[in-house]
Amino acid sequence: MKRDVGPRSVLVIGGGIAGLTHAVAARQAGIEVEVIEVRPDWKVAGWGLSLTGPAIRALRAVGLADACVEAGYPVFRTLHCDAIGTVRNVMELPSVLGPGKPAEVGIGRPVLHAVLRERAAELGATLRTGLSVESLSSGEGGVTASLSDGSTRTVDYAVGADGVRSRTRAQLGLPGDPWYTGQMVWRALVDRPEWATDIYTFAGPTFTTGLIPISPGKAYVFLTESSDDPGTVPEAELAARMRALLAPFGGRFAEVRDGITVPAQVVRRPVQVLFVEGPWHAARTVLAGDAAHSPSPQLVSGAALAIEDAVVLAEEITARPSLDKAFDAYETRRHGRARALVETSVELGRSEREGRREEFHALQRKGHGAMAAPM
Ligand SMILES: Cc1cc2nc3c(=O)[nH]c(=O)nc-3n(C[C@H](O)[C@H](O)[C@H](O)COP(=O)(O)OP(=O)(O)OC[C@H]3O[C@@H](n4cnc5c(N)ncnc54)[C@H](O)[C@@H]3O)c2cc1C
Repeated sequence: MKRDVGPRSVLVIGGGIAGLTHAVAARQAGIEVEVIEVRPDWKVAGWGLSLTGPAIRALRAVGLADACVEAGYPVFRTLHCDAIGTVRNVMELPSVLGPGKPAEVGIGRPVLHAVLRERAAELGATLRTGLSVESLSSGEGGVTASLSDGSTRTVDYAVGADGVRSRTRAQLGLPGDPWYTGQMVWRALVDRPEWATDIYTFAGPTFTTGLIPISPGKAYVFLTESSDDPGTVPEAELAARMRALLAPFGGRFAEVRDGITVPAQVVRRPVQVLFVEGPWHAARTVLAGDAAHSPSPQLVSGAALAIEDAVVLAEEITARPSLDKAFDAYETRRHGRARALVETSVELGRSEREGRREEFHALQRKGHGAMAAPM
């Protein structure tokens, strides 16, 4: 199906979660789609991600919820444990998807990307790697992008879905600098112990760690480390350093910790937070996902926001008589929600850093409650 009215073509800059979801949604609306990804291939680091209920609800809008639930590991409860693994509290997680449906789905990041990419390709999107945009200029006839291989594209609109350090944002002259919150997040891919059929948290003397299943065979460990100076850890030492941080934990968590042995399956990233006050567009190009807003990962909602952006943008593009009106409507729907989430995530990180642990669950509930409202 090709559209007779409204935008007929889009260049999506960035083949991550926001970009690939928009590729699916735009193809479903009959728009010609080309996605360009700067990385030389589609390899994504092999750690896990939690898709919250709102993320799955947004994926359902583009027909991908079932595929993601099947490809991941549905979870219904969180078990809060002490440092030696004794369960102190069991929390049934409400599901925004309805009774009997999972509250969250743990999924391998490469698995999620593959589901999105394969669907976009099936629907006829063109997907290219090893390409980025050198310059963008908009006129009556569309937006023209000069690409890094010397070619050009002229399309009706472009989407900057190129992540928190978005070059598109800078090319559009939109302000927004990610800032380091004083925390490093760690993730490690491990074998899933048989007992880990839910989300587990383990509260230690100074921080809480946890485990999330992502498939029958695998799970990931999460940990946030407070550090004024993030410094660097040589890749070869990542597994040993993460095990050392987890040394105060014992009981059933000890086997999980001791399973962190492969440096390539450990990631350590600075928490970088961003909120672009707006506008999120200039002329015919608009930002989506982390390029416009990046909450800290403790609220596990960055991907949910990115997926929602991609879906809402396609809805508004098809519903409005002009791009200007569509971009304004998209930003109106997204701005307050994204801002509230980023602010709550910053507060959550601060409460962790300052040892105000009792606030953590209340802030988490606040963030998830806000996201439960319709997108
Ligand atoms: C350690 C960690 C754990 C997290 N865990 C969770 C979680 O459990 N749940 C959750 O919801 N969120 C989580 N998040 C947040 C989530 O990963 C992001 O919010 C999400 O990936 C944003 O998607 P995006 O498509 O906007 O950006 P990205 O995923 O960053 O994708 C951007 C893409 O654009 C490409 N690109 C960059 N520059 C260019 C360019 N110039 N030209 C072309 N392509 C370009 C990149 O290579 C990348 O493929 C986590 C984040 C971190 C750092």
